[in-house]
Amino acid sequence: MKQKKFILQEKDIPTQWYNIQADMPNKPLPILNPATRAILKPEDLFPIFNEACSRQELDQEHQWIDIPDEVREMYTYYRATPLVRAYAFEKALDTPAHIYFKNESISPVGSHKLNSAIAQAYFCKKQGVTNITTETGAGQWGGALSYAARVFGLECAVYMVKISYEQKPYRKSIMQTYGSNVTPSPSMSTRAGKDILTANPSDNGSLGSAISEAIELALQTPNCKYTLGSVMNHVCLHQTVIGLEAEKQMEMADEYPDMVIACFGGGSNFSGISYPFMRHNILEGKKTRFIAAEPSACPKLTRGKFEYDFGDEAGYTPLLPMFTLGHAFKPASIHAGGLRYHGAGVIMSQLMKDGFMEAVDIQQLESFKAGVLFARSEGIIPAPESCHAIAATVKEALKCKEAGEKKTILFNLSGHGLVDMSSYDQYFSGDLQDFTISDEEIAESLKSADILNK
Ligand SMILES: *Cc1c(COP(=O)(O)O)cnc(C)c1O
Repeated sequence: MKQKKFILQEKDIPTQWYNIQADMPNKPLPILNPATRAILKPEDLFPIFNEACSRQELDQEHQWIDIPDEVREMYTYYRATPLVRAYAFEKALDTPAHIYFKNESISPVGSHKLNSAIAQAYFCKKQGVTNITTETGAGQWGGALSYAARVFGLECAVYMVKISYEQKPYRKSIMQTYGSNVTPSPSMSTRAGKDILTANPSDNGSLGSAISEAIELALQTPNCKYTLGSVMNHVCLHQTVIGLEAEKQMEMADEYPDMVIACFGGGSNFSGISYPFMRHNILEGKKTRFIAAEPSACPKLTRGKFEYDFGDEAGYTPLLPMFTLGHAFKPASIHAGGLRYHGAGVIMSQLMKDGFMEAVDIQQLESFKAGVLFARSEGIIPAPESCHAIAATVKEALKCKEAGEKKTILFNLSGHGLVDMSSYDQYFSGDLQDFTISDEEIAESLKSADILNK
């Protein structure tokens, strides 16, 4: 029998996260205070984030950062996640490529998001914080944080993008099951929410506006910190457990990836699977390709601009040097809710600029088509976000077929889609459509960022 799964023992779960900032030949540009343009120091982040994560955010020095025992202990409940050779999928594609996937969908909440939620909740608890806030789009991050908050005895308030709150009621139920307080955003509970609703009472919400509300609540509530599920450097750092495990597992399989592929919202699962392998490109000149699969409806890496921009719609965050579509960008309502974010993380943006990674944009129908093929061969129903990584994998596997090349592809299965079956229903009934935005629309929304760079 051919070996399909590569499994690590608990003792082989990483004891440290990998901080790629220490190894980058060009460090990311500094994060700036929007009012003074002063370079941000960790202390400047303390009012919003916990102190440990604030330090990790700006740490360009330490290559390895210890995973606290309490965090690692929680990781052992579901890690190491399996690395799987997708023989059936290879056969369905009739490709000579070897396809592996890292299965993050087996976490209790169904996605990779828990890897950072546990760490952030732990660091808050350790610092004596009692309450945490966040926003969630499709509800994956909110679910992960709700569980992590419960584990460490924190009160958790989640602002959920209104359209998702209405379209994905089960994710709200999941958060409530773990004991969180969930509010549809925009809401009348914050100034940012009130401003949006006054201008447009039927506003459906966006990640950017939910972030504004969650930050505002954190600033106004004593002993409360804000948490973020993607984009930020410390979130990407926590996710490197994925790639560090995968590195050992690929060794067990006696292979090394020619390509590493992940879907891309803010970049956390992409970073997680990529950075540990990318360090060998940076330090030893390996030639692995790293491919970020983003939705055509929200193409910040393939069609955005590298400049300073806010991470949220209301402009509460510091100025981040990143590939962006402008913080005023309103993505179409595609079903991969977790990929509807206007910017890319600061580290990824620099790596993109320096040619260490590439990006491909995927249309909605193509993503579901690939996801269905994967489900029918490997049995796992992927999250709509993960379908983008699978579609990019299909493209590469078919290129291998044409060229008769036996390349090794590793992709990250960031989550399962069992709570997203309404999206699959719509796909099967022909109700989904592709979205392409024009250059003019992008130029228009980029104006919101352009003025910050004058
Ligand atoms: C949130 C989410 C994503 C996108 O976020 P990244 O930070 O880019 O990883 C992708 N897949 C799943 C399943 C998610 O929940």
